[in-house]
Amino acid sequence: MKFCSNCGSEVTQRIPEGDTRPRYICDACHTTHYQNPNIIAGCLPIWGDEVLLCRRAIEPRHGYWTVPAGFMENGETVAEGAARETWEEAEANVRDLTLYAMFNIPYINQVYMLHRAHLVDGKFGIGVESLECRLFKEEDIPWDELAFPSVKRTLKYYFEDRKRGEYPLHIDDLRPPQKRIQP
Ligand SMILES: [Zn+2]
Repeated sequence: MKFCSNCGSEVTQRIPEGDTRPRYICDACHTTHYQNPNIIAGCLPIWGDEVLLCRRAIEPRHGYWTVPAGFMENGETVAEGAARETWEEAEANVRDLTLYAMFNIPYINQVYMLHRAHLVDGKFGIGVESLECRLFKEEDIPWDELAFPSVKRTLKYYFEDRKRGEYPLHIDDLRPPQKRIQP
């Protein structure tokens, strides 16, 4: 952050009195700009024995497959955000949303909250942020072309849980990918 979003003056970074972390502070209008993690709300949409995935038309991970998910908006619940993202990315209506996988990703300041959900009528399209949307059976999942570790984990959990018919909430903390050490 370089400029104050309130008055446009330059901000400086320092620890305010009584605080423990550096914040962006505007000395012109005395606003402290707090920066906090973002919540990513999404769905794993299910239809029969298939799940709906979207191929990303945007960066990051353009061309890779993901579940419909995106930044939660002000004024909505996390489930509403998940349903909205599913409509925007896959033009699909979902029902019976149940929180299923939560990922803390502290190194990018994000929390993923993914829901199991059922397609209302099996219909879907292709949202503007997607190149393609389609239903996959377990054996057809493109494991090497998934966009994010959170997507891979959610799918693995789902297909394992489905065998038992039990779907507990999964909570994981994701760490940065290990850098490959050159020999
Ligand atoms: Zn200001």
